Formats: sequence, C-alpha cells, structure tokens
Amino acid sequence: MTEHSAASPIRKIVIAGGGTSGWLAAAAISKVFGKNFDITLVESPEIGRIGVGEATIPTLRVFHKLLGINEREFMAHVQGTFKLGIEFRNWANKGDKYFHSFGITGKECWACQFQHFWLAGKKYGIDVPFGDYCPESKAARLDRCSDEDSGLNYAYHLDATLYADFLKKFSQKHGANHVEGMIEKVLISPENGYIKSLLLKDGREIEGDLFLDCTGFKALLIDGALNTPWVPYGHYLPCDSAIALQTELVRDPRPYTQSIAHDFGWQWRIPLQHRAGNGLVYSSRHVSDDEAMATLMKNLEGSPVTEPRVIKYVTGRRINAWSKNCIAVGLTSSFIEPLESTSIHLAMSAIYRLMRYFPQNEISMSNVEEFNRQSAVETDRARDFVIMHYHLTQRADTEFWRYCKNMKIPEALANRVQLFKDTAAIALEEKELFLNDSWVQVMMGQGVSPSAYHPIADVMDEMELKNFLGYLRGNVSEKVSAMPSHQRLINHYCKAAMPA
Ligand SMILES: Cc1cc2nc3c(=O)[nH]c(=O)nc-3n(C[C@H](O)[C@H](O)[C@H](O)COP(=O)(O)OP(=O)(O)OC[C@H]3O[C@@H](n4cnc5c(N)ncnc54)[C@H](O)[C@@H]3O)c2cc1C
Repeated sequence: MTEHSAASPIRKIVIAGGGTSGWLAAAAISKVFGKNFDITLVESPEIGRIGVGEATIPTLRVFHKLLGINEREFMAHVQGTFKLGIEFRNWANKGDKYFHSFGITGKECWACQFQHFWLAGKKYGIDVPFGDYCPESKAARLDRCSDEDSGLNYAYHLDATLYADFLKKFSQKHGANHVEGMIEKVLISPENGYIKSLLLKDGREIEGDLFLDCTGFKALLIDGALNTPWVPYGHYLPCDSAIALQTELVRDPRPYTQSIAHDFGWQWRIPLQHRAGNGLVYSSRHVSDDEAMATLMKNLEGSPVTEPRVIKYVTGRRINAWSKNCIAVGLTSSFIEPLESTSIHLAMSAIYRLMRYFPQNEISMSNVEEFNRQSAVETDRARDFVIMHYHLTQRADTEFWRYCKNMKIPEALANRVQLFKDTAAIALEEKELFLNDSWVQVMMGQGVSPSAYHPIADVMDEMELKNFLGYLRGNVSEKVSAMPSHQRLINHYCKAAMPA
C-alpha cells in the first residue's frame, strides 16, 4: 500500500463526460447501484463527443445482457449491423486478404487446438482455407449472418452518437442525474489531495466522493487535476493520426469491418443501416495530412455525408487508471488504436473491474492497486495483439512498412510469435481478451507458417483425418447455407428501424 485510505464513505458518484465511456459507466452503475448512490453525469454539449468508435467486439453483448438491454431495441436505435469479424486487405502483402473472425475454428482436443489438425491435413494435400472450418468466417465471406439463437459469436457496428443517447436514456431511467455544463476547474481537497468537486463555467459546483474521468483525450481529472502520467505506446504503434468521415451506403452492409492497409497506415469501413463510417489511420511521420486525406477520398465507396475530421492522438495508457478517488474510463485511461476495436471493450472492462473492486465504505489502497495492476496487464496484452498486425507484415514497399517490420517489439509478443513459428502453439495467460483462434488467424493471415505441429495430430491416419476435417467443414457449410443474407436479417431483426 502506497497511500492512506480516504476517510469518507462513498455516497455520491460523479461521472465527468458523456461520450460512450461516460454513458456506459452511468448505465452500469445506475442499474446496479441506482438505489444506493447518488449518480450524476456531467457533460458539455459545447465540446461534444469524439463521435467515432463504431465497431465493437462480442464482449459488448455480454455487457448488454447483464444490463438487461433488449438486442432488437438496441440495434434499431443505434442503426446497428452485425459484425462477424474484420477483413484485412493488403496487410501481409499488397493485394492479399485474410479474415479475423470472432468464431471458433474447427474443434480442439484436450492437448492441442484445431490449427494442429489443420496443419497435419496439409501433409495429405488437404488444402482448404482455415476459415472454411469456422461458421463466422464462412458466413462473412458469403455476406450471411444469423441472430443469437444460431450460436454465432458476433458483435455490432453502431452509430456512436445514437449509442450514447441510447445509454443516456437507459441510465436516466435507472436514476442517473444528468447535468449539462462545461467543467472549468477541478477542486482538490487540501487534506488528502482527493477530488472534492467539479466547478462549472456557470458557477455550479458538483460535489462527489468518487469521480469517473470520462472526458476523453482531455483527461481533465486524472491528468489535468491529478497529474497521473501516461505510458506512451508510440514506439510500437507508429500511427498517431486519423481522418474520420461518414458516407452514404452504396451496397448492402457487409457483416464485418474492413481494414485496408495503405502505404502509411490503414483505412476502415464500418457499415451501418443508414450510412457507413470511414476513416484512415496514419503515421504523421510518414505522410502529410493532405496526402492522407487524398488517399481516403480516393478510396471511399460512397459520397461523403459529413465533412472529414482530422483527429490527433497519442497511443498509450495511464500508469494508474485509478488515482486517489478518481478512475479513468475510456480514452482518459488508454488508447491503443482502432485496428481491433478494443477501446469500447476496455472501457467496459474497467467498469466491470470497478464493480468487482468497488470501494466498500471508503477507498482502500488494496482495491486501487489491484485495479491498476489488472488494467495495465489487460491493456498491454491487447496492445501486443495490435502491434503484431503491423510487425508481421511482409511488405517492404514503403518506409512506413519497413519501419513496422523492423521495429523492436515487446518481449512477450516476440516470444509468442516465436512459439507459434516453432510449434503452432499459442501462449496464453489467464483472462486474455484475444484467445487462441484470434492469434492464429492473424499470424497465419500475415503469412506466418509454423514449422511443426503437435504430435497428437498424427494419431489419426490419413483417412481418419480426412474424414474428421471433411465432417467439420461439411457442418460449417450446412449451418451457413441455412442463414439469411445479412441485409435480410437486419430487415427482419431490426424491423422497428426500417421504413414500413
Ligand atoms: C479514430 C478513432 C477511431 C476509433 N474507432 C473505434 C472503434 O471502432 N471501436 C472502438 O471500440 N473504439 C474506437 N475508438 C475509441 C472510441 O472512440 C472511444 O473509446 C469511445 O468513443 C469513448 O470515448 P470517450 O467517451 O472516452 O470520450 P469522448 O467521446 O471524447 O467523450 C468525452 C466527453 O467528455 C466531455 N467533456 C470533455 N471536456 C469537458 C468539459 N470541460 N466539461 C464538460 N464535459 C467535458 C465531452 O463533452 C464528452 O461528453 C476510436 C477512436 C479514434 C480516435
């Protein structure tokens, strides 16, 4: 323990910021503790929300289930579409593509995972794409999808502004108070250095016992008032800029996000029901804003419906996500970059963690330290997964890709990659966000080919292995062929949002 506990019991919780993170926190805390605590969210419409963050990962569904959110209502409200994974184009080499699906591929046994059997099959000339053994991957390639009854592991694409509004309504229904106003000053108690209140521009003072800093990149509380340092990731993740804009839809929405690599970064396409989200993430050391803008404009699928916005960022994480009586959630706490849609998940995960280590009567440093330890490990692991996409490129056609290919990477990541190259096994710690199949799909997609596989995969003879793989592949085909097109599913599932 490094500090003394706060003296006062927690009664008033103040959430500063009403972007996705602020309202996610308000929704969860009001649902669980609405009757016990006074919960107030302060946001400034003048400043607004970042307005990006429209691709998610499947963990959001679990969060919604815990809150009791109805999926159809949610999807109708946020103009949502289904997301089965991410298609990566031009990442390993120009002109190639691979898919990182959210599903389970094939069938594992107690000693090893499916990739070992798939590799063994190659020895007998069974040259079937890995994704043919995964319903989510196969369905995505055919623009098909299905709802939760199918057991598919999917996430959502959503309109970020509509989502924050949806969560706002939910939170207010569960007792959260909403204050509109600009935070001008954060007042600190001279006795213990804890945050006492937020002073608004119009003179109002919002007092609290526990503060959640959800003010986005501004980090008004955790940094502005408490000076909690940021651990930068920039030496591993060279991109530091993005341009975001929305376009009209020109085709039925794909049930996946697209990530298209360019000479100095990559472009996202996120299809919603009523429009598409687009953007380009790039390294300002390798390209000017103007050239990046021209590249994005040249590669849009539909006409823009908003003006492009340039967003500058510094990747990294807060050294301590919880400091004194303030917890950073969302962009105040960490930002890896949007490649694997980790940000909303990390915000949600911080909220779960806060629930688990919620101050009992007063803030205990044991809680704070455990919270901070877990936050750091989780964020660094997710960071490693994202770094891997860049580092395992085979591209050497531009300075940017040469830098990525040759840059030093964290030791834990280097060990993972080596283990996979040597044995086809994946090293996993407990409770990691990205599991075996994610690492395998991305490593193989980036062109890594293991030199060996687990000997148990050779226990089956050629005929047995062919039958086993054929059976699994057949099951996937059968399941997927019974699924509707993604557009049909949306029309049916989110009827409330569609014109009559
Ligand atoms: C280019 C880009 C693409 C991204 N894509 C994805 C993605 O696909 N998937 C994903 O999971 N994440 C993505 N993210 C991250 C995602 O946008 C955020 O995690 C998410 O939007 C949550 O943001 P936030 O609520 O923390 O901050 P913000 O949305 O910035 O909200 C900050 C809030 O604080 C308030 N505020 C600030 N200052 C004051 C003040 N002085 N007084 C009062 N209120 C104040 C603002 O009004 C606002 O309500 C992306 C981020 C970037 C930069």
